[in-house]
Amino acid sequence: MKTEPYWWDLARPVPIAAETLPTRADVVIVGSGYTGLSAALLLARAGRHVIVLDKEDPGFGASRRNAGYIGRTLKKSFPSLMKSHGEAYARAVYHELDAALKYVRSLVKEENIECHIAQPGRFIGATSPTHYEAMAQDYEITRRYMGFDYHMVPRSDQRQELATDRYYGGVVIPDLGSLHPGLYHKGLLERAMQAGAQVAGRTEVQAVEGQTPDIKVSTSRGIITAKNVIIATNGYTPRQFPWHARRVIPFTGYMAATEILPEELVGTCIPHRRTVIDSNLNIDFVRPAPDTPRILLGGSTGSRLTTTTEMANRLREIMLRVLPGLKDVSFSHVWSGQCAGTFDMMPHLGMRDGIWFGLGYNFAGVPMGTYFGKLIANQIIGKDTKPSVFSQGKVPTMPFYHGNPWFVPYAMRYFDWQDQRIARQGARQGGRQ
Ligand SMILES: Cc1cc2nc3c(=O)[nH]c(=O)nc-3n(C[C@H](O)[C@H](O)[C@H](O)COP(=O)(O)OP(=O)(O)OC[C@H]3O[C@@H](n4cnc5c(N)ncnc54)[C@H](O)[C@@H]3O)c2cc1C
Repeated sequence: MKTEPYWWDLARPVPIAAETLPTRADVVIVGSGYTGLSAALLLARAGRHVIVLDKEDPGFGASRRNAGYIGRTLKKSFPSLMKSHGEAYARAVYHELDAALKYVRSLVKEENIECHIAQPGRFIGATSPTHYEAMAQDYEITRRYMGFDYHMVPRSDQRQELATDRYYGGVVIPDLGSLHPGLYHKGLLERAMQAGAQVAGRTEVQAVEGQTPDIKVSTSRGIITAKNVIIATNGYTPRQFPWHARRVIPFTGYMAATEILPEELVGTCIPHRRTVIDSNLNIDFVRPAPDTPRILLGGSTGSRLTTTTEMANRLREIMLRVLPGLKDVSFSHVWSGQCAGTFDMMPHLGMRDGIWFGLGYNFAGVPMGTYFGKLIANQIIGKDTKPSVFSQGKVPTMPFYHGNPWFVPYAMRYFDWQDQRIARQGARQGGRQ
């Protein structure tokens, strides 16, 4: 069993090191994931001298480790946002989530990135009858205001979606999709470099000080002075960026790939090849691999699983509760990666003293990281500078929090308890587009 991402079979991060670092640049980008590269591509095309720095090989972060779901994912549902912040705000948030999904699709198409992008739809299983009822209400309200299509799948028809009796029916959202996250990242990296962006791996940014136009970026390989800096480190944000580290909550996500399976078995397990999640706050997820007949799955996000055996055992429990028919199947790959949440469960972008940031994607960084990269690049270029709803308001932190997320396993247990309580009471909070 390999202990690295399945995606690395086709897209392993490789060393890329600019021979010598420049002493000046228009924009220094810290972090070579989707956020950093999507910004780098547009900035380089607009003629800016851009350098992307990563302390590991480019693509080492979550961008080549995730599940490759592309959706309008947010922990807060449209109706719950409407209730807490009003209709205009809820509409603005979901409008931008939709814009992010569409942007990934158009970028992949325009840049001709071969990454198995597809639109099989998503099935969301209800973990209790009350979740099913609440989902039906939520998605109906969302369709009424936003026009997003869906259809409910009663439990009696569930096996047409997934070979399981775990759920009490569910919802299908037909326009959501998936891709191969490793190939998508590799394509973005190649396009950014072809456009003229410099990329330097194994170059750690140790400090960012000063104000635009003379921001001093101290790295393990020398100092670069930049007009603008973008912090794009999400779940890998280090303590040396104290303002950002105080505002993101890093947590670990776990995934596994099964061994190669007979095509018919994959077809029986997930007949329409949809991406699958459930209605809990702490989700299990399964999807078919896009390039070989296997099933990929994940969950137990935020737990502290320290050994490969612990990870494999926990992921096996998930596989068997969602797809019990796979009991004789073993894993070919087990891996983990760092995601980032925020204290208000919303992604945020913004700028302080010429230092831009896009962070806290709460498991939705494939579309949102790509989209925030575009928004930040456009702000720097001065093109299409309409403010994003995600740049409004403060990015919250907590007293005494400095980036050590000791409470995450407890928070996940609290979410498990909430999921059970909500199942009993019939209310539901999570947004599951
Ligand atoms: C298991 C898992 C499953 C997921 N599934 C999905 C999914 O299906 N759909 C979805 O939308 N999202 C998903 N996500 C989330 C998504 O992968 C991330 O939100 C997204 O990749 C973040 O991209 P990014 O560019 O902001 O950061 P990353 O890709 O994480 O890159 C950050 C980079 O910053 C670098 N860095 C950190 N500190 C420094 C420093 N001091 N100097 C230089 N470089 C530094 C790191 O080395 C890293 O390479 C998942 C995440 C995980 C872990």
